[in-house]
Amino acid sequence: MNLIFLGPPGAGKGTQAKRLAKEFDLKHISTGDILRDAVKSQTPLGMKAKEYMDRGELVPDELIIALIEEVMPEGGGVILDGFPRTIKQAEALDELFDKKSLKIDRVILFDAPDEDIVQRLSGRRTCPSCGAVFHVKFNPPKEDEICDRCGTKLIQREDDKEEVVRKRLEVYRKQTAPLIEYYEKRSILVKLNASKGIEEVYGELLSLLR
Ligand code: ADP
Ligand code: AMP
Repeated sequence: MNLIFLGPPGAGKGTQAKRLAKEFDLKHISTGDILRDAVKSQTPLGMKAKEYMDRGELVPDELIIALIEEVMPEGGGVILDGFPRTIKQAEALDELFDKKSLKIDRVILFDAPDEDIVQRLSGRRTCPSCGAVFHVKFNPPKEDEICDRCGTKLIQREDDKEEVVRKRLEVYRKQTAPLIEYYEKRSILVKLNASKGIEEVYGELLSLLR
C-alpha cells in the first residue's frame, strides 16, 4: 500500500503517519524530518535547504525530487508525509512510480480549520534527538518538556513561531493546495476530518483505508 498524506502544516499528518506506519509495517517518509536531520548534520542538502526552511518557503523541487528518488524503497509500501507539495513534485512522483511499477493507492487530505492549525503549531514541541512530536495541551509528555521516548529536553521548532507559520500557510494555499484537484481528478483523494482528537482521527483514518 502506498499512501500520500496531504494537508496544511500542523494538521496532524506526522502524528497519524507514525502510528499507521508502525501498525501496518509501512515506511514513513517525511521530507520535513529528513530535511531537519540533514540541516542538523550539515550535509550539502541540509546546507542548501536551511535558508528556505527558516523562511517557511519550500525547498527547490529538484532537491526534493532527488531526495525522494534516493529514499523510495524498490517495492513501495510507503506513507509519504509532506511530499509532494507542488504539481512538479507530484508529476515527478508519477514518473518514479511508473518506472518502479508502483501505484498511489490513496491520497488522504487532512482537513482542519485555520484556528486548529495555528493552535496545534503554536503548542507543538518536538524532540531534537529522536524526532518524537508532542503538544503542550493535546498530547503532553508525561514529564513537562521532556521527551517520553528518550528523555531529551523538547524544543519548539523555529518554523513553528508565529511569523513563519503565517508564511507556511500562505505557501500551502498557493503551491500545495492545487494538488487537491490534481488527485481528485484521478478519484484517489479522500477527505479526512482532522479537526477531532488524535484517537478519533486515527479511527476515521482506519475506516477510510478499509
Ligand atoms: P503535521 O505533520 O501535519 O505538520 P503534526 O502531526 O506534527 O502535524 O501535528 C501538529 C501538532 O498538533 C503536534 O503538536 C501534535 O501533537 C498535535 N496534534 C496532532 N493531531 C492532533 C489532533 N487530532 N488534535 C489535537 N492536536 C493534534
Ligand atoms: P514539514 O515538517 O513537513 O512541515 O516541513 C518543514 C519544511 O521543510 C517546509 O516548510 C519546507 O521548507 C521543507 N519541506 C518539507 N517537505 C518539502 C517538500 N516536499 N517540498 C519542499 N519543501 C519541503
